[in-house]
Amino acid sequence: MARKPFIAGNWKMHNTVEQSLALVNALKNAVNKNNADICVAPSFTSLHPVAQALKNTSIILAAQDCHYEDKGAFTSAVSPVQVKDIATHVIIGHSERRSLFGDNNEVLNLKLRAALKHNLTVIFCIGETLSERETGKTFEVLQTQIYKGLKNFIAPELKDLIIAYEPVWAIGTGKTATPEMAQQTHKDVRAILAQKFGPDFAGAVRILYGGSVKADNVDAIMAQPDVDGVLVGGQSLEADKFIRIIDYN
Ligand code: PEP
Repeated sequence: MARKPFIAGNWKMHNTVEQSLALVNALKNAVNKNNADICVAPSFTSLHPVAQALKNTSIILAAQDCHYEDKGAFTSAVSPVQVKDIATHVIIGHSERRSLFGDNNEVLNLKLRAALKHNLTVIFCIGETLSERETGKTFEVLQTQIYKGLKNFIAPELKDLIIAYEPVWAIGTGKTATPEMAQQTHKDVRAILAQKFGPDFAGAVRILYGGSVKADNVDAIMAQPDVDGVLVGGQSLEADKFIRIIDYN
């Protein structure tokens, strides 16, 4: 079965409520000729107003993270129950969470379980650093992130999971993996998933590429057979740029 393209914008720690609403109102007019799933991930402060603005549209709303507990004394954290109140999707394991906030594979495994328990659809991010790539460790790193992050799950529990492969060295740096490099790594990720969850799962799961995606590289990246979508940071903050990405050829 064909995998439906998925185009997501991760707004990170950008945009006031007013800016978020202006952006999302402009996106509502995107043509979406590729019939892709379109998703935006605003900051927590903008999540509720953006949800209101997206009512009666097909644009998917995601949170950028969630805690693994349902509730409790975790000042500043947001639980999957609270996310589910407003959004349907959540990003887990973004490299900035891994490197700046100490989300290791074990914590991410707990977050994934908690999110799925509350029927959130998870966009699970993986990716290697530059030194890991340069020392030939990419496959091993991705395998560890998948095996540990998705530990103790069986395939049916992960049927809606979306994987985002984001080489850390390409995020926000302007450096992009070449389309061939993205394809080879996506193929490797699919092989790792087949090893762990079987070929049917691996053939159906959507794998997004992320890392300095923009108008002038999205077409070649999306043309790769194992690339099912993109997770976009910087270029998702301007409506016309993100609309061009949605409208890839
Ligand atoms: C991201 O934040 O997931 C990302 C890929 O950022 P950028 O597109 O800015 O590299």
